[in-house]
Amino acid sequence: MQLTNIKVPAEQVSFLQAVRQGLGQQQGLFFPTSWPKLDIDSLLSMSLVERSSVILQALIGDELSASDISNMVANAFTFPAPLVEVTADVGCLELFHGPTLAFKDFGGRFMAQALAKAQAGKKTTIVTATSGDTGAAVAHAFYQQAGVQVVILFPKGKISPLQEKLFTTLGENIKTLAVAGDFDQCQALVKQVFDHKALVDKLSINSANSINISRLLAQVCYYFEAMAQVPAAQRDQVVFAVPSGNFGNLTAGLIAKALGLPIKRMVAATNANDTVPRYWRSGEWQPKTTVATLSNAMDVAAPNNWPRVEALLAQGVISRDDIEAVMVDEDDTVIGVRQLSQQGYLSEPHAAVAYKALKRSLLPGEYGIFLGTAHPAKFKEQVENILGTPIALPDVLARCAAEQGLSIDIPADFNVLQQELLKLEQV
Ligand SMILES: *Cc1c(COP(=O)(O)O)cnc(C)c1O
Repeated sequence: MQLTNIKVPAEQVSFLQAVRQGLGQQQGLFFPTSWPKLDIDSLLSMSLVERSSVILQALIGDELSASDISNMVANAFTFPAPLVEVTADVGCLELFHGPTLAFKDFGGRFMAQALAKAQAGKKTTIVTATSGDTGAAVAHAFYQQAGVQVVILFPKGKISPLQEKLFTTLGENIKTLAVAGDFDQCQALVKQVFDHKALVDKLSINSANSINISRLLAQVCYYFEAMAQVPAAQRDQVVFAVPSGNFGNLTAGLIAKALGLPIKRMVAATNANDTVPRYWRSGEWQPKTTVATLSNAMDVAAPNNWPRVEALLAQGVISRDDIEAVMVDEDDTVIGVRQLSQQGYLSEPHAAVAYKALKRSLLPGEYGIFLGTAHPAKFKEQVENILGTPIALPDVLARCAAEQGLSIDIPADFNVLQQELLKLEQV
């Protein structure tokens, strides 16, 4: 697989190089310039792991052997992605059955496998900041992986107690730092780390952020898994609605279409952070200040995967009509959670945004699938407030809620962070 830096086309790398590097020169995203065509009918009759191995072999198989890729997929995709019927023409693709109860487990776990191959036994330190879900997915994906040390910074007291317990209770190769500050300060500290070349080299520091190509390619696979669960007669009528923040998930769906999956339309659903819906109407890219919403994992005003969507359009493998962009406000999000509950389906604000956008878009005869990106219990407080009824915690959350958090408090100070990182060298 050859990938090109979207900003600096002269910079071309292989899959494993892109995994190692993350971003290219001038912060450019790596992306392929052509796509294989796949035999869709035969793929749709396979199991999730078998099919995903074939898809990822077709994409990256020149650099890794078929058995390597099958093993990576089998190690990463250890949980199902069921399509659960809500009404006769609408289903939810539940992507939250992994260890941290959010769809980020798919990308995070495959990235961990890919990075292990890319590092080829060389020790590496992953430093990342989280405002919630990503930290947990990255921590669990790399937990107990030989040669990998993970350091996660989070704003002390500013993420939900359950989100915090999901990654601060692991210990071993997962070090967690509770920073006295907000998320922006955590991100600024991580940036300072990456600007400190000597430190980066000394500890072989890598970032496991959301623009890594390995995450995106892994996410392509569950669109095929969704389609495989749709009755054959309806497969040419499928519309997906994706709750979008950084637009990685939407990009993965568009890649699935480029590979030949017969997706009729993709609905990009945003909350009040509606840069893309406004851009789609007016042609003007004008991010505003981020606003806080109920679907907080989608509170992104400048989605950093968007250049990849533009690249797919420029390549001619998708067209403008394949995308509909819909904004769903807070009132409608609340209504969505309630309507789903009245139909016997317990959901949460992110999926509800996608559900409402889907309902606005769906035409008679079409089959709509909205993506369930997180388990409702991860947003227990919001869901209980909206529905007025208590919801139960699944075992994983109940178990870690009872454990001791192991994070170390630090001030938002680069020198203190550096000392903490250098301590890792001694272990
Ligand atoms: C990260 C996240 C999203 C947004 O996904 P993108 O790929 O960034 O668009 C939606 N829902 C949940 C629960 C998330 O954690």
